[in-house]
Amino acid sequence: MGFDRHKPYSIARPGVPRGLMLLKGKKGVVFGLANKLSLAWHIGQALHAEGAEVLFGVASERFRDKSAPLVESIGSPLPLICDVTDDASIEQAFAELAKDSGKLDFMVHAIAFADRADLEGRFVDTSRPGYALAQDVSAFSLIALSKAALPLLREGGSILTLSYLGSTRAVPSYKVMGVAKAALESAVRYLATDLGPEGIRVNALSAGPIKTLSSSAIKGLKTKLDLQERIAPLRRQVTGEDVGKAATFLLSDHASGVTGEILHVDCGFHALGSWEE
Ligand code: NAD
Repeated sequence: MGFDRHKPYSIARPGVPRGLMLLKGKKGVVFGLANKLSLAWHIGQALHAEGAEVLFGVASERFRDKSAPLVESIGSPLPLICDVTDDASIEQAFAELAKDSGKLDFMVHAIAFADRADLEGRFVDTSRPGYALAQDVSAFSLIALSKAALPLLREGGSILTLSYLGSTRAVPSYKVMGVAKAALESAVRYLATDLGPEGIRVNALSAGPIKTLSSSAIKGLKTKLDLQERIAPLRRQVTGEDVGKAATFLLSDHASGVTGEILHVDCGFHALGSWEE
């Protein structure tokens, strides 16, 4: 079969077994499900296709109601409610996990939020509460969820978060979220250092732009998607399936020696030094 660079290899091609069962026997939780466009959903589906038992976490009852049919379609129980700005909510979610599911092999953090006002206008006008909110929801939450997950994670377990290139490059529309992602990536390295001796790996995927509820709130998404197709080395947009497959790798034993890593899943965009066509 010829290779079509515009069509990413699919783990669900007709006639080919669904996945390689890289995660058979593993169980874990994916936080950050909002709807079928969510990266949390793409990741959850990929992990499920590779044999994992996948649980989900949502921010509120509203998101739980909306995502119930999705998770049911892959045999997962009703998502846990976990508002990461509220310690009691985190505690409650992990108490439920401990009671109903016992030990876990992985935890995925696919959560971010910033006030729209702080994503518009000039970065220099970022408000103090807006800065604190973006850091709290998008970066500190990884630390808080990792701490809560630790007693449940088996040795050899793995934590994964989602970042974006705006952490290391100034992307005009990303602003306060870029600073939060920089903190998030730094937290990945510190958590990897802390938890490595306990046999827990911590990594991030830095994904290229994909249309979701959150990314649609950021100005210039269409421009970013067009640019991907025109100049990214693979000359195409990144898909949810690309992200799901990379997540599968990092959460599997195939990545047993990988921790503290920020893996770009952006069709090579981050490697460019100039945007010439
Ligand atoms: P999404 O809107 O589907 O997911 C964001 C999730 O964060 C939602 O489920 C939302 O409910 C959750 N959330 C917000 N505040 C919360 C809170 N207080 N408590 C608990 N959950 C809360 O969008 P997405 O694009 O799938 O985003 C998932 C992750 O991927 C984010 O970290 C985002 O920055 C990252 N990411 C996205 C892209 C992209 O282009 N879509 C690219 C790179 C990285």
